[in-house]
Amino acid sequence: MDNINFFIGLDDTDHLDLGCTTENFNDFLNYLAEKINFTIISRRLVRLWPFANRRTRGNAALSAVIQLNIHDEQKLYDVTYDWFELLLSNISSHPSSNFPASPVMIISKTKFSEQIYWDTVKGHVDLNFRLNEIKDYNCKVYAGNSYWGAIGASAAISWIPCENHSYELIAWRESSMIGKKRIIDIKTIAELDENFPETFVNRDPTKNRGLIAPRTPCPVLYGIRSKSPEILEKAHKWLQLNNNVEKSSDYAVHCTNQLSDDHVTPSSGTVISKPLISKGAHSSVKVILDGKLRTLVAFYQGGSVNLLLRSLRPGDIISWTGLSSSDSSIHLEKLSISDAVPRIISRPLCCNVSMKSAGNNQNLRCTKCNSYSEKYWKGYIPNFSNIDMVDNWTEPSPSNRRHLTKPLNLGAPHLNNLIS
Ligand SMILES: [Zn+2]
Repeated sequence: MDNINFFIGLDDTDHLDLGCTTENFNDFLNYLAEKINFTIISRRLVRLWPFANRRTRGNAALSAVIQLNIHDEQKLYDVTYDWFELLLSNISSHPSSNFPASPVMIISKTKFSEQIYWDTVKGHVDLNFRLNEIKDYNCKVYAGNSYWGAIGASAAISWIPCENHSYELIAWRESSMIGKKRIIDIKTIAELDENFPETFVNRDPTKNRGLIAPRTPCPVLYGIRSKSPEILEKAHKWLQLNNNVEKSSDYAVHCTNQLSDDHVTPSSGTVISKPLISKGAHSSVKVILDGKLRTLVAFYQGGSVNLLLRSLRPGDIISWTGLSSSDSSIHLEKLSISDAVPRIISRPLCCNVSMKSAGNNQNLRCTKCNSYSEKYWKGYIPNFSNIDMVDNWTEPSPSNRRHLTKPLNLGAPHLNNLIS
């Protein structure tokens, strides 16, 4: 058999209020299956840089590796063309938006450089730069009037799942149900959690809130996550047999970079300012990172990250993960304190009152009994026992984490540049 692998990527098909690239890509694979014989080697759901301008919700792109007979290559391109025309016509009826969908599908026989993925998950990518980059691969690019989707589609093709990957089973809704309230109660989600301990991030126990169903009007019914694709199939079938759960129209298991922390680089630095607490309930400190002054920001939603940031003092040595925003401040995701300076409480006591400094280069003096003492402060090393920590790190509650963020219970960040 003359079989050959094709890498297929798709992105930027959805509108903020409708559609979902996961469903469009599933629809494409189903459409293709009606026309030609092929085997799916792998399906991938890749989350990209969370601060990208054109992102919708979780900034996801889709890809698949499929294998087919070399004689069907032209047919693959023809069928894809037909499907893509249908997609464009469908999208043309979307309501107007600041960022109208700009779908791009890429088919390549050659694997793209992994650097394309890293550039797209860690920062901004210039569209023209990327279009030039992928020219080298002699791939087929399907697009409408604009090419924005090429950034995510190429990144989804170039991702190589490494030890960090996990799986997400996505179940989609019947079209008649879209827009209606999803039928899946928190009690069933708690049972899912209990019966399938290998699944994760099903709910936020701190808020008694389910995390498997989106809160947007998109066609996704739910997504279940695990390190094991087999467990996901079992969990899905169990959910679908439950009378309290809406029936899905279709489902697929995707290999994903979610929970990988691929979007961040852990860093360490020394705090050089007291925390500044703003009215909006977020807080910030200044740190020195690689010889440069940077501002770290934690938001109200950051929960214990915000709490820990507010407890910092100049001289503390901390580590963090976070994203550099457009104003070059770093929006924290996780925070750790590796070395805390002593917190000053007072001068030593004598006769039940604080001793006073008698001036520069002078001893401390008790104003009651007039005895003297060497000059020093009383203090303590804080233990931050009021803050939830795992391996000395703290993180927001599950509902306030990004798809890409690795929960601490899957392992704390590794630092290469840790200050010793
Ligand atoms: Zn005294």
